[in-house]
Amino acid sequence: AVDVVKHFGDGGNWLSPKPPVQAVDGVSLEVRRGETFAIVGESGCGKSTLARLLMRLLEPTEGSVLFDGDEVSHAKGEVLKTLRRQMQFIFQDPFSSLNPRMSVGKLVGEPLEVHAPEMSTEDRRAKVAELLRKVGLRPEHAGRYPHEFSGGQRQRIGIARALASGPKLIIGDEPVSALDVSVQAQVINLLGDLSRDLGLTLVIIAHDLGVIRHMSDRVAVMYLGRIVEIGTAEEVFATPLHPYTQALLSAIPSIDGASRDKKSGVLGEMPSPSDPPPGCRFHTRCLHAQARCKSESPKLQGADHQVACHFWKEIATQPAPAIPSRR
Ligand code: SF4
Ligand code: MG
Repeated sequence: AVDVVKHFGDGGNWLSPKPPVQAVDGVSLEVRRGETFAIVGESGCGKSTLARLLMRLLEPTEGSVLFDGDEVSHAKGEVLKTLRRQMQFIFQDPFSSLNPRMSVGKLVGEPLEVHAPEMSTEDRRAKVAELLRKVGLRPEHAGRYPHEFSGGQRQRIGIARALASGPKLIIGDEPVSALDVSVQAQVINLLGDLSRDLGLTLVIIAHDLGVIRHMSDRVAVMYLGRIVEIGTAEEVFATPLHPYTQALLSAIPSIDGASRDKKSGVLGEMPSPSDPPPGCRFHTRCLHAQARCKSESPKLQGADHQVACHFWKEIATQPAPAIPSRR
């Protein structure tokens, strides 16, 4: 369970006041055991900050993160150590997160040394071999070094390393976005298989809805530090309720990979999180915005499929307005 606010910055001083960056501004959600939960949004929407709050790589400005009922947000010492074993992180760039001077066997074996120091060298070697097999690598890869592997294989090494400490939860911050498109699906499928076979809970951060479409049980869409829509993947993809989600979905490239708008099909640039628009934060880019949107911030409403928009009902029953020319 998560209920957090994270603002960065110290506010400057009286000579040069700086507004805090409202990276995550009142996000509440609950990830259920065993599910794959995706958090999507453009870069700068706060999703990576949220992931780091979940992992206790950051402390929230306000609020808390609970993991199995235990407070994560301000955990320290032994408690934090136990949590770190149960929650593992997979990074975006598998190359920079793997020490190039460590062999694969050492990289995957290191968490075992830390978390299971009583394990014999032989048992550890056997365990490393088993982990490598689990992620689709071979035991003899243990003697090689990260640079000898492709990007996809390196991400597999990162996953094996994450699995080594026997986690309950794995958080992936754009785990495939640095990989070739052809390899992305393989790594995504691997994560899906592992979560099913090992009963893992997965939280996947992505900017691309296409990537998480087939692997996630539930999806949260973030915009400027807030969740604007949350629901099962099926519902969100079939009947997106928030205009921002609708725009993101319409920007998914077609199968033939035809032209793709890099700005995700919404109008203009995302405003700065240090100076978010008042009211609905999306109103500066929303095709449906009305006067009320500029002053009143919409709350998430609904039961299982939730949306933060004053006019979602009207929008759902209306044909989409024509997109004005960008020029
Ligand atoms: Fe658009 Fe208004 Fe809904 Fe915000 S509240 S998404 S501006 S219609
Ligand atoms: Mg990011």
